[in-house]
Amino acid sequence: MVDISTDVLIAADAQGKIRRIGKACLQSWGYSPEDLHHRRLADLVHEHDREDLDQSLTKQRGAERELTLQTRFLHKDGRAVPTALRAKWSAADNAYYCVAQVLPHAAPHLAESGSTDASRRLQSLFEHHPDGVFAFDLDGALIEANPAFSGLTGYAHEDLLSMRYQTLIAPEHRRMVTERFVAASRGIASCFESVGVRKDGTRFEAAVTAIPMTADHRIVGVHGIARDITQLKNRERHIERLATHDSLTGLPNRNLLDDRLRHAVVQAERSGRRVAVLFIDLNRFKVVNDSLGHDKGDILLCIIADRLRQCMREADTVARIGGDEFAIVLEEVSMPESVITVARNVLSAIERPVRLEGHQLAVSGSVGCSLFPKDGTEAATLLRNADLAMYEAKAAGGGALRLYKADMDERAKARLTHEHDLRRALERDELVVYYQPRVDINSQAIVGAEALVRWNHPERGLVPPNEFIPLAEEIGLISQLGEWVLMQACMQNRIWQNAGLPPLKVSVNLSPMQLDPDSAIIDAVKHALRSTGLEPRWLELEITESSLMQNVESTLIKLEEIRNAGVSISIDDFGTGYSSLSYLRRLPVSGLKIDQSFIRDITASRDDEAIVAATIALAHTMNLTVVAEGVTTEEQIRFLHANECDEVQGFLFGAAVPPEELAQLLRHAPRSRRIAIH
Ligand code: C2E
Ligand code: MG
Ligand code: MG
Repeated sequence: MVDISTDVLIAADAQGKIRRIGKACLQSWGYSPEDLHHRRLADLVHEHDREDLDQSLTKQRGAERELTLQTRFLHKDGRAVPTALRAKWSAADNAYYCVAQVLPHAAPHLAESGSTDASRRLQSLFEHHPDGVFAFDLDGALIEANPAFSGLTGYAHEDLLSMRYQTLIAPEHRRMVTERFVAASRGIASCFESVGVRKDGTRFEAAVTAIPMTADHRIVGVHGIARDITQLKNRERHIERLATHDSLTGLPNRNLLDDRLRHAVVQAERSGRRVAVLFIDLNRFKVVNDSLGHDKGDILLCIIADRLRQCMREADTVARIGGDEFAIVLEEVSMPESVITVARNVLSAIERPVRLEGHQLAVSGSVGCSLFPKDGTEAATLLRNADLAMYEAKAAGGGALRLYKADMDERAKARLTHEHDLRRALERDELVVYYQPRVDINSQAIVGAEALVRWNHPERGLVPPNEFIPLAEEIGLISQLGEWVLMQACMQNRIWQNAGLPPLKVSVNLSPMQLDPDSAIIDAVKHALRSTGLEPRWLELEITESSLMQNVESTLIKLEEIRNAGVSISIDDFGTGYSSLSYLRRLPVSGLKIDQSFIRDITASRDDEAIVAATIALAHTMNLTVVAEGVTTEEQIRFLHANECDEVQGFLFGAAVPPEELAQLLRHAPRSRRIAIH
């Protein structure tokens, strides 16, 4: 039986040495039984399988079940012959009985289960690997795929085995992937990224490893491992976008702008063309933000961003580089004049009215411009100089455009000096408070005075507040400055009262920042009243309409505390913010001051007339006292009187003057300045 079996039957001793072997060994491995007598089984197999076989046989001795494994016997001619080996240890005979069966030409890929431990382990790795593992032959026909690969591609295992790998690759990637696989079939492994197509046509991004597949020292195909990295790539792209784009508007951010500008400069150096940088800042954006809320402010920024994008060419970069600051890089500028045209287009795009939840916003911008190479040869310089030009455009009023000029640098330096100076102005007592009379429209008697600060600069002379209050706010000096004015005003009012002048209410302007949640304005007010002995009813605080909309809840608490201290509050510059009268109803205010921009045109503009008349009427329904600011003509007075405005303030009754001059006015007014109303 041993000799007639087509399988090789073997009996081996405890050391694995062959004692008896069937004649089939000649057919299978080219050796005659005599050749193999006394040879160790393990010596007959491929050196890589040797240890595994030895160990498996040794282990088999204690085991119940027979050993089955797949190994490679070495043919007499040197070939490796894949062979299935079954072995059982007989303790009684102190011998192994084995059946070796040459496998029909074994597939070159991973062994079937049930072979050696090593290949079983590999098999389990293959089966359970979360990445798709596959193999194809040199013709590109898939010959193996693990379950994860089916999961990844959506094709059933059987389907895959009748496909070529190319089908799974996005057409535009096929060439590149084929190159990699061809390289692998020549022995060069590599990792690369590609895009796969699933059965249902959807795509996925994959990280692929291509590995030459060898059998018997020959490359017989390619092994591949593919991992779905779609999510990873999406995250990568998202992070990349975050790093280079503004998340609100989707425009490039400062980083990307710097990059593009640098690039544009390098290009322009070669081509001899110009590059222009436009620096854009929205005017009064803070008012929108503060009075309508940040979410509306955000919407406005997005609208403006869209408009800017639309008025640019594809090649130009529009970036958002700060709160309400945008920058545009214009490449390939041939004529400097064309930049002015573009800048004007930008300005008019910004100025188109915006409707935002029932509010019609009039937006405007200021644009500064610098040109390469005239105004700088480096990206940073160009941007800074465009910024300087913008600053000057802004100072010139809304909707302005300025081209950079060298002397702007000087002025920028001067501004820095101002900052330094202002810090010391307080210590050096360079600030002074002037008072502007406020007059009752009927009696024309002075009933109040507004404290308006000035800076008595040693070189520049009397500097108006608009030139340094914003600076003081910017550098965190405003609370200190504001408290100083408050103290001066209370003290001055006491001095007038002590001098026997008719008592009047002095009003002090508060900066929006003085209403911040952590500001100590209440303490400052109480302190000023206590230390001067002024009765609270002779003090009034003016807050701008827009500041009311910031931190609504904490502002409300602060205003209530102020009112509870007996001090009245009025709303300044009314009409320039976007609050509604119904909102004001909730606030503990006692009056409002209509902004001078409305008063200026009342006798010329029907719109302004209507606005002013309606505002007065509505304010009265809410028991608010109405003051008209900036009254300069008798005509205006008559209009205001006819519409029952309560009080007026303006050059017609006197500009802001030093305290001694106001005392003079108090002594002699109203008789000397009486204006005919009727
Ligand atoms: P405001 O509170 O609206 O003050 C009225 C401004 O209008 C004053 O300018 C005043 O001189 C000016 N004005 C008054 N009547 C007329 C007129 O008939 N025609 C024209 N064209 N203007 C008139 P000023 O003193 O330059 O103050 C400007 C702004 O600076 C003030 O506007 C106020 O917002 C701010 N300000 C002034 N002093 C202080 C202060 O102590 N603290 C704070 N936070 N702001 C202040
Ligand atoms: Mg005021
Ligand atoms: Mg005002």
